[in-house]
Amino acid sequence: MSDRVTATVDLAAIRHNLRQVRRRAPGARVMAAVKADAYGHGAVPVARTLEAAGVDALAVACIEEALTLREAHIRTPITLLEGILSAEEANLAAYERLQIVLNDFWQVQLLESMPASASLQVWFKLDSGMHRLGFPLSAVPRLSAVLERNPGWQFCGWMTHLACADEMDNPMTQRQIEDFDAALLGLPGARSIANSAGLLGWPSAAQRDWVRPGLALYGASPLPGKVGLDLGLQPVLTLTSRLIARRDYEAGAGIGYGSAYRCPEPMSIGVAAVGYADGIHRSLSSGAPILVGGQPARIAGRVSMDMITLDLREAPAAVVGDEVLLWGAALPAERLAAHAGTLAYELFCGLTNRVRFRYVDSAGSRLDLR
Ligand SMILES: *Cc1c(COP(=O)(O)O)cnc(C)c1O
Repeated sequence: MSDRVTATVDLAAIRHNLRQVRRRAPGARVMAAVKADAYGHGAVPVARTLEAAGVDALAVACIEEALTLREAHIRTPITLLEGILSAEEANLAAYERLQIVLNDFWQVQLLESMPASASLQVWFKLDSGMHRLGFPLSAVPRLSAVLERNPGWQFCGWMTHLACADEMDNPMTQRQIEDFDAALLGLPGARSIANSAGLLGWPSAAQRDWVRPGLALYGASPLPGKVGLDLGLQPVLTLTSRLIARRDYEAGAGIGYGSAYRCPEPMSIGVAAVGYADGIHRSLSSGAPILVGGQPARIAGRVSMDMITLDLREAPAAVVGDEVLLWGAALPAERLAAHAGTLAYELFCGLTNRVRFRYVDSAGSRLDLR
């Protein structure tokens, strides 16, 4: 594959971010979210790095993602956040020693119909206010009874998910934490509340048996108005392309599809070899900040499938062949995401298989390709 668009993933930054997570939640075990191909960063290399760094568990959305990791010989405990959808999946989960998050009584029934010899590891997810998945808090006594009548199950603990942890002045989070605690008062079992926003913004959520960070491990901030570097995190992925053309136009010239950008004065327009088929959202049209050879530039006009056009007025020295930086340490993905009306989460997950991935370890010399 050509090096048109390259995602350079720094494994040392993942280890750094894991250390930051541990610093924020001392004593807590860390279940790292590597679902959605490790938020677009590459599930296997990311999981290997986390495993070597001693992460306590990995979390994925579904069984296929877990099997990918087991096939790559990842031995760390793996949690299925959405649980299981069928008896077949439950059997596979038992065989591959996956932890199943149970969200509803139909899943309990499914597991109870399995042979008693199956070694099942289960979490119970409680709905403390997010109202997406999970048992109502009032179901806790029934869930305790489920555990009592299934002594062969290995009980991993109780988890809940925060709905508004990225809003620091929203009382919802404290209410969720208090309701979760009250429902479980006096009951045995590990507790887990915090995703990245909970971990970074709410010490009372972070100080539990388990934390479940995703985004923070990739070096981005879930808190609005802050970027990962503000929180001591290091961006892991640097997305680059190349400047493949530079032309001068007269005032009034229309640029790209729909002539959506009109040159307000005589000026230079650059073309970079990256587009929405690589994961650059079309909503990033006109105005989004980019770096060309280290100088500031802005997207001018519409993002096309394979190219973007750039206003080079602030980058007079830009020449064909220059590196174009879409995001990385010098230009946080959070900034670009805000420009597209989305989150770094979605930019990361939107990278396509046309992007070439390079894995580097800035602390060592290991380098391999996906
Ligand atoms: C994805 C996920 C996480 C991690 O969320 P981040 O915001 O990326 O830290 C934690 N818990 C659950 C249940 C999840 O689905």
